[in-house]
Amino acid sequence: MDWEAVIGLEVHVQLNTNTKIFCGCRNEFGAEPNTNVCPVCLGFPGVLPVFNQKVLEYAIKVGLALNCRIAGYTKFDRKNYFYPDLPKAYQISQYDMPIATEGWIEIDTENGPKKIGIKRVHMEEDAGKLIHGEGASYVDYNRAGVPLLEIVSQPDISSPEEAYEYLTTLKQIVQYLGVSDCDMEKGSLRCDANVSVRRRGEGKLGTKTEIKNLNSFKGVKSALEYEIRRQISALESGETIQQETRLWDANKGITQSMRSKEEAHDYRYFPEPDLLPIKVDSSTIESLRSELPEMPKARRRRLVEEYKITEYDAKVLCLEKEFADYFEETARLVKNPKKCANLMISILAEQLNQRGISVKDLAVSPEQLSELVNLWDEGKINNLVVKQVLEEMIETGKPAGAIVEEKGLAQVSDEGMLEGLARETIEKNPKVVQDYRSGKKNAVMFLVGQVMKATRGKANPQKVRQLLERLLEEGVG
Ligand SMILES: [Zn+2]
Repeated sequence: MDWEAVIGLEVHVQLNTNTKIFCGCRNEFGAEPNTNVCPVCLGFPGVLPVFNQKVLEYAIKVGLALNCRIAGYTKFDRKNYFYPDLPKAYQISQYDMPIATEGWIEIDTENGPKKIGIKRVHMEEDAGKLIHGEGASYVDYNRAGVPLLEIVSQPDISSPEEAYEYLTTLKQIVQYLGVSDCDMEKGSLRCDANVSVRRRGEGKLGTKTEIKNLNSFKGVKSALEYEIRRQISALESGETIQQETRLWDANKGITQSMRSKEEAHDYRYFPEPDLLPIKVDSSTIESLRSELPEMPKARRRRLVEEYKITEYDAKVLCLEKEFADYFEETARLVKNPKKCANLMISILAEQLNQRGISVKDLAVSPEQLSELVNLWDEGKINNLVVKQVLEEMIETGKPAGAIVEEKGLAQVSDEGMLEGLARETIEKNPKVVQDYRSGKKNAVMFLVGQVMKATRGKANPQKVRQLLERLLEEGVG
């Protein structure tokens, strides 16, 4: 029998406001434990929260970018539970009147674009952080009161691949808005997944489980793959699925039962008495709408048109706003933007990955990179040398032209010299030539390799190949 998965994702995004959501403490990552705290975020009796208007602004922007309806009237509620990282024993969150509802985003799937519904976006405060040491646990309240948006999707996601694509698209939108860095490693983006399975064509939803402890987008994908298989095999062997929360163990590659899933009524939500409800008028919404930057999808379309690059190139370039900014700054200075896209997507991206840095940490400016792109485009250096020069540029900060000059890396295009080398190579390798003549046309690649070696990688490999083929056809060797 054919099964299908039904997946909904809950994403928590930390907003990068200067201060926390209900007090003036600084909102920064990596400070000494318990240094960004005050009586309000430590939950002392008798203190009153004051709402940070910047959080509302960011929440509305995110809501608009996710095509949501923005509430004209919204309020905060208390979510009551006890945990050592939550000093007040309640979290100020939003329950029945969230700031934004009924949105959608479009993701790419193998069957074309697909809309995933956004059920709601609400504002809330983060809890502190427990640090488990040897023989003791510690608590750091710096994170208590950091503003969060919870973004809840509709259960429109049908596969782990779609979940991955949804997260990538959502992260990209939030990053483009500049309201969060969405760094999962720092915990500024966190994700829980709800998943159930049912027989294909069946209308009724199966019992779902919630998966927590997902530390990367790849982790989300692997955890969902595992959990879907687990549920299907349980149902096929006649078992029932328990509604529960399960923890993903990335090392073992399995999910494990943590606790039975709590229901909303377990939290005894009630309206937050210390904060007034918020009215949002349409002029505020419209003025924030006018401040929205160009969104990733629109930018992809524009890059294809403006720089005559492929859809694929545009998609890769736009994954991160800074990368796309860097591309545009460079592409404006070069004769062939397509070459610029190639260089950035393959060679530059690889260099950044190896060093674990992003373009904003790069010592090479768009002007400097444009010089390299032009040298390559004009055939002054070949593909192999581009990489070497770029490496050198990143390490030394020297301009491309100077490096090429200094190291003698300019492409060898002296036909006479190349022909001499080609003839020599053919004469030295009679066996390879015989293979070539007996129909193994690929044997020529060995000869190309030999000539390239003799020029220390500086010849144009296509030219060398053409030259060798011509000589072999003419009967040399
Ligand atoms: Zn505080």
